[in-house]
Amino acid sequence: MFWLAPRVLLALLSVMAVATAGAWLLADSAWASWGAVGGAGVAVALICLIDSWRGLRLLRWLSGHQDVDAPVMAGFWGELSARAERVVRKRERDIRREQDQLQQFLSGIEASPNGVLMLDAGEQIEWCNQMAADHLGLDAHRDLRQRITNLVRAPAFVAHLHARNHEQSVQIPAPGGTGLISIVVRPYGEGQRLLLTQDVTARERADKTRRDFVANVSHEIRTPLTVLAGFVETMSSLPLTEVERQRVLGLMAQQTRRMQSLVGDLLALARLEDSPKPPTDQWWPLVRVGAAVEAEARGLSAGRHPMEFDWGHWQVAGSEVELQSGIGNLVNNAIRYTPEGGTIRVSTVLRVDGGLEIRVNDSGPGIAPEHLPRLAERFYRVDGSRSRETGGTGLGLSIVKHVAQRHGGELRISSELGRGSCFTLVLPAVRVQTLPQAQPAEPVSS
Ligand code: ADP
Repeated sequence: MFWLAPRVLLALLSVMAVATAGAWLLADSAWASWGAVGGAGVAVALICLIDSWRGLRLLRWLSGHQDVDAPVMAGFWGELSARAERVVRKRERDIRREQDQLQQFLSGIEASPNGVLMLDAGEQIEWCNQMAADHLGLDAHRDLRQRITNLVRAPAFVAHLHARNHEQSVQIPAPGGTGLISIVVRPYGEGQRLLLTQDVTARERADKTRRDFVANVSHEIRTPLTVLAGFVETMSSLPLTEVERQRVLGLMAQQTRRMQSLVGDLLALARLEDSPKPPTDQWWPLVRVGAAVEAEARGLSAGRHPMEFDWGHWQVAGSEVELQSGIGNLVNNAIRYTPEGGTIRVSTVLRVDGGLEIRVNDSGPGIAPEHLPRLAERFYRVDGSRSRETGGTGLGLSIVKHVAQRHGGELRISSELGRGSCFTLVLPAVRVQTLPQAQPAEPVSS
């Protein structure tokens, strides 16, 4: 208020000065007092004019963009201008801070792996992040203010949006038809709704795989169990001769072995899924890994197949047990599916990229091309009865595939009906070395 006293004083002095000047000018006439009044009037008019002009400058600044400084003036108008500028600048700073916060918040939602979409009371899209747009097949900018039911027409979604109870989520096909999107609707504000979308394709697939797996395991176990229960029943209710008893016991032992193999393979798979990746600094001569495989193979074939093993001069890095189990499963299959007299050949080939191919060839029945992509799926069998007859569990190749992938490699299968098959376990270059003192082999192209 420091401007108030000087301003009043100045105004009074100005009025008095101009009034005195008016009276002095007309001092010699009878209008001397009117001169003083006129002078005072002129002074007041001048003060009003100056005030209006200063007020106009401030008003102009206030109604503009305020991107230049407020007009600099003295006294009352100067104080008013400075205060107005301070208020305006503070409001600008507040708005900028709120905009930054909003921007950060929106960036956070934008980075979310889930979709977020806001609907107004008229079901028009107010805002959505890119993920929601992708999930629902929308354009995050062009489709703003559009009614969502005009754009997402899946009947399940429309019914869910109009339902009163939104506790459950709804699932609709992803745009393009491959995949599944889950949508949760949450009401807020005055009739507005928040939609949270999530791509549940992988989760659904995993759930289905798990359900199928449990169903398959149950089925695989139930069959031998039913057979065993039947034999137990037979043995306890029927008087059997010694020969019959021995035959039944033999069949019971066979079913028990089948269950043991199944449980063994299931545990092997579980171990492969749970354990850490095989080390890259533990080296094993391949010939040593192969020796155990070879011994088991010769036992299984019992001389029925001519066999050839060439493990080369390599050492491989990883888990010896896993590699033995992987290669062993391939050789085991080759023996089980190749009729007596058919040949089995194991060989190694170095690829140009430094990786190693461990190939298991057989001259067995071969596999039709349509089965090849699914062969390494759990419990997938081309010939179920042949597999079970020979003690197969349907899990062998999925174990091999896991072993290969855990070592950074892959399982390749080529086969021709009536001519035989070739199963190749490929190990990457980082896990392959030539055995010390051995000549490196000629690399071959893949
Ligand atoms: P299984 O225990 O039934 O042998 P695998 O996972 O090892 O299960 O193999 C899956 C299926 O692939 C087998 O059921 C069989 O039909 C086919 N298969 C595997 N290896 C061979 C092979 N060497 N020759 C012909 N078919 C094979």
